Amino acid sequence: MAQKLQAIKGMNDVLPAESHQWEFFESALRQLLADYGYQNIRTPIVETTPLFVRAIGEVTDVVEKEMYTFVDSLNGDSLTLRPEGTAGTLRAVVEHSLLYNATQKLWYMGPMFRHEKPQKGRYRQFHQMGVEALGFGGPDIDAEIIAMTADLWRRLGLSEFVRLEINSLGNQEERAAHRQALIAYLEQHVDILDEDGKRRLYSNPLRVLDTKNPALQEMADKAPRLSDYLGEASRAHYEGWKAMISALGIEFVENPRLVRGLDYYNQSVFEWVTTELGAQGTVCAGGRYDGLIEQLGGKPAPGIGFGMGLERVLLLLQEKQLLPERPTVDVYLVQQGVGAPVYAMQLAQRLRAAGLAVIQHLGDGSFKSQMKKADGSGAAFAVIVGENEMAAGQAVVKPLRADAAQETVALDQVALTIARLKA
Ligand code: ATP
Ligand code: MG
Repeated sequence: MAQKLQAIKGMNDVLPAESHQWEFFESALRQLLADYGYQNIRTPIVETTPLFVRAIGEVTDVVEKEMYTFVDSLNGDSLTLRPEGTAGTLRAVVEHSLLYNATQKLWYMGPMFRHEKPQKGRYRQFHQMGVEALGFGGPDIDAEIIAMTADLWRRLGLSEFVRLEINSLGNQEERAAHRQALIAYLEQHVDILDEDGKRRLYSNPLRVLDTKNPALQEMADKAPRLSDYLGEASRAHYEGWKAMISALGIEFVENPRLVRGLDYYNQSVFEWVTTELGAQGTVCAGGRYDGLIEQLGGKPAPGIGFGMGLERVLLLLQEKQLLPERPTVDVYLVQQGVGAPVYAMQLAQRLRAAGLAVIQHLGDGSFKSQMKKADGSGAAFAVIVGENEMAAGQAVVKPLRADAAQETVALDQVALTIARLKA
């Protein structure tokens, strides 16, 4: 027997029972982004591998073990399914000179791919909405980004379930000084480091603190703190950011161990975290990456952005029952008799032109079974046409959810009748 065809592990179908929830959430995001002056950018899902290696950093979870990389058999190029959205967005910005005498506030939304162990809130194809604000030095944009994400939680009813954690990573020199102290500290604890930790001790010691290994938490907690190495400018940036967030009435906790999993961050970093989803608690994460555009071949320009894991926010919305019911159509059009399919189809087009959502019954079916389908569709009204109605140029409007009598009206009165009965 042929092998059963199945989706790839960790890559999920979104079926109609859930897709309306995605649509609801996505439209809330689009509205939010428009309200804050962001513009959409759409880049390819596949990019050349060196882009991600250069942008994300060689010694990171993503580049070391999570990328879907393959050889383009046509020309031997190494290609990668995008694991995140910043690299491709900035590649496009540089390639098309979008920062020439300009700043940009950009957003994207779509699938990302990481070869991870699938579990609740962690998938191999997942979806992110992300923004990149380019050409702004901050800290005002840093604060606006926090305000925007806080606004989203408020709009969705999630404010009480998420917590904002922030930190400053300073600049490159400050990180270098801290790095020395950190390596010295980690060398004293080399015996308890896990495999990742040992490998990163010299190549990327900050990442050792980003560990999810519970056995290393205490050691990581007591490690030298980057905040103690910040110079005046970095400190001022951080204090300015915090003052603005506070002035907006947004609560936060400072987490000195928040370093983020990707290499490109500096200064402001943040995560919105929930305790409601187990270990997969980060729903939105980002920060400043002032050197990245230059690193990708552009003229130096500051930047800040975040990525939001849509599945995790949706899980939270589902758990807290904050999602609307599936939207239903206004009308289910029931039709029976010789010539009824065409008569009904013309009427359906007329109703749609008047702004109503209509499902027309297709194919055969007894009057009774059609009415059952009308009921099951969730439509507010059945509009019924049979031999008598066709002969008279009329249709029956029958409210399905309200205790009101049905009415027989002329074709050009159907939409108006529905509007009146709805009101
Ligand atoms: P984590 O620490 O959970 O692995 P990360 O630091 O790798 O997250 P980022 O690269 O910052 O995550 O991505 C931003 C957001 O995308 C995360 O906060 C999370 O909400 C979501 N995300 C990341 N990886 C996955 C995944 N494999 N499945 C679902 N969502 C994910
Ligand atoms: Mg990860």
